[in-house]
Order: sequence, then C-alpha cells, then structure tokens
Amino acid sequence: MANVQNLEYWQSLSDNLTPEGRAFINGQYVDAADQGTFACVSPIDQRVLCQVASCQAADVDLAVTAARAAFESGVWSGLAPAERKAVLLRFANLIEAHGDELALLETLDMGKPIGDSRSVDINATVRALSWTAEAVDKIYDEIAPTGPGELGLVTREAVGVVAAIVPWNFPMIMAAWKFSPALAMGNSFILKPSEKSPLTAIRLAALAQEAGIPDGVFNVLPGYGHTAGKALALHMDVDTLAFTGSTGIAKQLMIYAGESNLKRIWTEAGGKSANVVFADAPDLDAAAIAAAEAICFNAGEVCTAGSRLLVEASIADAFMAKVRAAVQGWQPGNPLDPATNVGAIVDQAQLARVLGYVAKGSEQGARLTVGGQQVTPVGGGLFVEPTVFEDVTNDMAIAREEIFGPVLAVIRFTDEAEALRIANDSIYGLAASVWTSNLSRAHRFARGLRAGSVWVNQYDGGDMTAPFGGYKQSGNGRDKSLHAFDKYSEVKATWIKL
Ligand code: NAD
Repeated sequence: MANVQNLEYWQSLSDNLTPEGRAFINGQYVDAADQGTFACVSPIDQRVLCQVASCQAADVDLAVTAARAAFESGVWSGLAPAERKAVLLRFANLIEAHGDELALLETLDMGKPIGDSRSVDINATVRALSWTAEAVDKIYDEIAPTGPGELGLVTREAVGVVAAIVPWNFPMIMAAWKFSPALAMGNSFILKPSEKSPLTAIRLAALAQEAGIPDGVFNVLPGYGHTAGKALALHMDVDTLAFTGSTGIAKQLMIYAGESNLKRIWTEAGGKSANVVFADAPDLDAAAIAAAEAICFNAGEVCTAGSRLLVEASIADAFMAKVRAAVQGWQPGNPLDPATNVGAIVDQAQLARVLGYVAKGSEQGARLTVGGQQVTPVGGGLFVEPTVFEDVTNDMAIAREEIFGPVLAVIRFTDEAEALRIANDSIYGLAASVWTSNLSRAHRFARGLRAGSVWVNQYDGGDMTAPFGGYKQSGNGRDKSLHAFDKYSEVKATWIKL
C-alpha cells in the first residue's frame, strides 16, 4: 500500500496489466462458443483494454448445465454452512489481497476515480462477502406452533441455479450483494456483468476458484443484455434471477419469466431520490456539503443519487450559495490520480444521455447555475462537469426521469405537506433524506416517505446490517442484511405426524 497515493503507481500498474476477457464456465476460462467478442473500451481515454467474450444462448446453456450438475452433486449445496463460510471468507481475503489490481480494473473499465475504487468498491465487496459468510452458520430455521400430535418444520433450502444480471456503476459491489447470499445459501451461481464493465467479474471467477469454490458453482458470462442476459432470463432451468439495473429492463425480465418457467425475479431498479432540507436543519453547512456529494459522488452514476434537492423557500437563497460552492469542489480529473473526485462517464451513450438532459433542463425553463459542460481532463476521455439546475418544478423531465449523471434538480417548497407531496411524486421509491432538528417532524416525515431507504440529517448512510431496496418502480426484494437470504432460498413446510 506504500505508493497508492500517487498517479505514477497506478499508471505503471495499468501499463503492465493484461485483463482476462474470456467467460468462466465450469471452472475454466473459455471463449464464447461462436468465438464472438466485443471490445472493452476505457472511458478514461477510449483505449481498447481487451477483447471480451460475447456470450450467447449456447454459452448460457453450458453454464446452466454446469451449475445444475454442481448443485445436484452436493459438492457445494451439500456442505455444512460453516464449511461454505470458510471458503467464502477465503474468497473475501483474496479479494482484499488483490485489491489494487481489482480497483484498477474497475477504474479503467468504467471510469470511476481510483481512490473510490480502492476504498469504497473493494471494501464494500469484501464486507458484503465476509458479513454474509459470517452470518450463514448463525441462522436457525423454525418450528411451527402445532398441536402435540404433530411436528411442523419450516426450513429454508437453496433454490438451485441463481443467475444475476448487474449494472456498470458499482460492478463488483452489485455482484457481491447477489453472489454472497446466493453462494452462502448453497446455490450455484451465474453472473452476467454489464457489457460496459465486465472485467472485475471475470477476474473474480479465478479468485473464487482459488478460494475453493467448486467447478460449476461460480460462473461468469460476459455479454450483451439482449443476447446473454435475455437467454438467462428465458432459460427454463434457471430458478432465480436477481437483477440490478434500470426499471425498463426490470419490467422486461418479468415478462421473460412469464414466458418461460416463472423463475423468481428480484429487481433493484432506478431511482430519483429526494433530499429534503428544512430551514431548521441542524447544520446547513453539513447539509450543503452532503447535497453536493449526493449528486457528485461516482459522477452521479448512483441509483440512490440525491438528484432532487428540495429546499425550504425561506432559506433557499443562502443555502443554494453553499450548495453551489460545494459542487464546485467536485471537478472531473484523471481517474488514475488518487486526488480526483469525479471520474469519467461510462461510455458515449451515457455521456450523450447526460448532456441531453442538460439541454432539456434549459429548454424546459430551469436555471443552470453550475457546470453543464463536457470537459476533457484526459485526452479522448468522456467527462462532464457536475451541474446544478435551480427553479426546477417537479413536472420537468430533469425532476421526473433518472439521468444517472451529475445533474442536480433543485425545487423550492413552502411547508412540510408540500415537501412530502413533491418527494413522493415519483414513479421511483428507492431512497430519500430529510434534514430537520425537529424530532417529531423527522419521524413523521421519514414515515411518510415512500422509499426503501430513508436518512435523517445525513445522506446515504447504511452498511451490511441494513436491508437495501426499493418501493414502487425502484424494485422488489432486498439486498444486504439477513433479508437478502429471502431471495436465494425456498421455504419448505414439513409436517410430521407423531
Ligand atoms: P440496464 O438496465 O441498462 O442494464 C443492466 C443489466 O441488464 C446489464 O448487465 C445489461 O446487459 C442487462 N440487460 C440489458 N438488456 C437486457 C435484456 N433485454 N435482458 C436481460 N438483460 C439485459 O442498466 P445500467 O445502465 O447497466 O445501470 C443503470 C441502472 O441501474 C440505473 O437505472 C440505476 O438506478 C440502476 N441501479 C440500481 C441499483 C439498485 O440497487 N436499485 C443499484 C445500481 C444501479
């Protein structure tokens, strides 16, 4: 860890890196059956990092067959929870030991700052795995309250073959939130990373094998959504599909399940979270700093981004001066420089989407007060300045639609009822925050918010001990905490006549 604070260290590590681009099926790295590949391009400078296997239905079949055979054999599903725990903790240790390499792959692949990859992404991935592994040999099943002549056992069992389709904004963390509980329960697992960020998932497969996860239990299928993803979702022998991504694709996956085997579909989808600041917030400076971080961290490519800032009108002028100043502290830079706090936007399509919303914000009458420009701190790279729109109304596109970039929509309100109405006036319900020093209001408002995560006097709190997921069109089910096991287990009732 001696040199991790300087650009040269990461640059030289990057120069010597040869990423693996093949799929991992049944314990081996393999090309796609039809030899198809796609170029993995870094958004930092649009350099081709490697060619990646473009998996299709035939590869999905191979992976599902291997996963099913491993599951039926009991080589993993038949182990005691404590035995699986030991292997998963080794896996977590290996991720930690390869933290620099994995962080670098994440940064090169999807453009986030190396400082974040090395701390946030690696730490959260390791924590997800180790917390879940530690939990799995401490959960008990239930005995039903029957009469004396019977014994009713309520037991959890692994579902079998679990597939996960994940997005590109936190590739390792989103994968770990799925594979940790799925593997801990004894399932076989197939991971389809986003075509925009496949490299860490592919690398993790070798570490899983080195840790002792048997062949066929952990498979990785890089490829596009409409090919590999769709084939997984339509497969007749996938029991559960866990998804994180956009609301539109989440809906499509539910249709695929209905068209195939009614596999369980769990979705973590989009968000348009409200960050509500009352005049009696305990610390307006802290609230302004948090409001800036809530939209600038990870270049706004965060499902829980605080993309709607609701400010009480009586303090709005003074408070927005603080927010604008805080946002100016977030500037795009070279993602390989540990001092950088805003990285590159993942690809051309996403950049065009963000810039399109910036144009639409102005067209619809919002007032641009910070940023809004494409910039190039690294030649050829895809970067955009953090952007603030004020005088926004909740019916504008920048307030209703998920932009998934560093674009903040600021809306004023005059009282608590109006604030709650605006906060809940969204198809999404992933997260929300309220800033007030009035204890009753804090509780009342938190209770009134229709969102899966609610924060009071902070933004984006939480750890593995708390569940994470959405209300409304932000999804169903929960990742993290013991609740996550619900996605990866069936509940069986066994009645025994005594
Ligand atoms: P996306 O929906 O475009 O893609 C997500 C995944 O689905 C990718 O792996 C993609 O290849 C795959 N996919 C695309 N089309 C498919 C199809 N027809 N069949 C099967 N799979 C298909 O989302 P994205 O752009 O990768 O990620 C951004 C979205 O993810 C945002 O909406 C964001 O809010 C959401 N997200 C949600 C959470 C959460 O926990 N709720 C966390 C992170 C990101």
